[in-house]
Amino acid sequence: MNLFSDQIMALKTKTMEQARPLFARIDEISESNTAKVLKAFRNHQISEYLFRTTTGYGYGDSGRDRLEAVWAELCGAEKALVRTQFVSGTHALACVLFGLLRPGDELLSLTGTPYDTMQTVIGQTVHTPGSLIESGVTYQEIPMTPDGINLNAIAGYLKSNTKIALLQRSRGYSLRKPLSISEISAACAEIKRHKPDCICFVDNCYGEFVDIAEPTAAGADIMAGSLIKNPGGGLAPSGGYIAGKTELVDMASYRLTAPGLGGHLGASLADSRLLYQGLFLAPHVVAQALKGAIFAAILFDLLGYKTLPHFNELRSDIIQAIELGSPEKMVAFCQGLQQYSPVDAHVRPLPGPMPGYTDQVIMAGGTFIQGSSIELSADGPLRPPYIIYLQGGLTLEHAALGILGAANAIINM
Ligand SMILES: *Cc1c(COP(=O)(O)O)cnc(C)c1O
Repeated sequence: MNLFSDQIMALKTKTMEQARPLFARIDEISESNTAKVLKAFRNHQISEYLFRTTTGYGYGDSGRDRLEAVWAELCGAEKALVRTQFVSGTHALACVLFGLLRPGDELLSLTGTPYDTMQTVIGQTVHTPGSLIESGVTYQEIPMTPDGINLNAIAGYLKSNTKIALLQRSRGYSLRKPLSISEISAACAEIKRHKPDCICFVDNCYGEFVDIAEPTAAGADIMAGSLIKNPGGGLAPSGGYIAGKTELVDMASYRLTAPGLGGHLGASLADSRLLYQGLFLAPHVVAQALKGAIFAAILFDLLGYKTLPHFNELRSDIIQAIELGSPEKMVAFCQGLQQYSPVDAHVRPLPGPMPGYTDQVIMAGGTFIQGSSIELSADGPLRPPYIIYLQGGLTLEHAALGILGAANAIINM
């Protein structure tokens, strides 16, 4: 029995025909990253006894310590901090900024205005109690060009007190392109050429395992991200990570816990098996999400909508933007997608206000982990040109059904 009309099923067949050849490159990256994960697990002798929970201070928590050693190897970094005590990606990113910046230091964003939650951490565009600006840090940003980072402008922005250069890999909720690993590498080299002591810090959210190397293996000094996005593989129940040079990760760890304590404390209250197994699955799950994004890009391209990235463009994050052109279509898209969620399929998403946004926001996402965006989800602020941002999908089968549901809802408006 078909769930959808003949028209939609014909569209699905056509979409899959165009998609299949594009899946080959994604499979190659997933195979390469799976091999890398297995090698790191073997090198660090991962065994079942490491998967238990611990209590109290969490001194000598070997499961936690071994997981961090595996992560450091995977990231091409000296050290990693991988903790469920990070409440989100923003928390991990903020620990790096507050851990490394002191009053009088300057933070320079190379990728224009950062992601919404980072704007409140910085406190430039939005006045926030406890922000970096409030603590005496200064901030500048270099607008991006249509081609990416404005490399030629970097030298002119660097000052003697520029302590950190911030690079956001993903597009976030904007229409700019995500950064490729080679662009990150070139920007870090340009920074170091003019100011070798400036720290290159990458917001790696949504980028993990999309390519065969991570930013810290390509010139970045430190990076951070969320465990309920790509690298948690859909299993990590919460958390974030930081990876990079030892002295920098240590400074950030004093913000997560306290000066002197750092990463030595922190019990594994959640089953660390979920973090290990999620990491093992992550390359495959990211590939599933990327295939879902390509499926959506082709299908909505066939329906005549503008998509970003275009279906055959190289990808460096898992986000697919689709310009729908009207608020009604954004609502229909989300309601159609939600009907094919494993959780809360009976719920009809409606636009509503969101802290930090001036426009109403609509969101679809019936996820097992609250707010997880490696699981199939879509959202966007209701403002022209009415773009929906789609990401995640633990299986291509589910992503395809959800996307067909979204298309069906729009066609039947
Ligand atoms: C998701 C994300 C973050 C952090 O968001 P959390 O919801 O706090 O995990 C930061 N930067 C970018 C680009 C992101 O996509």
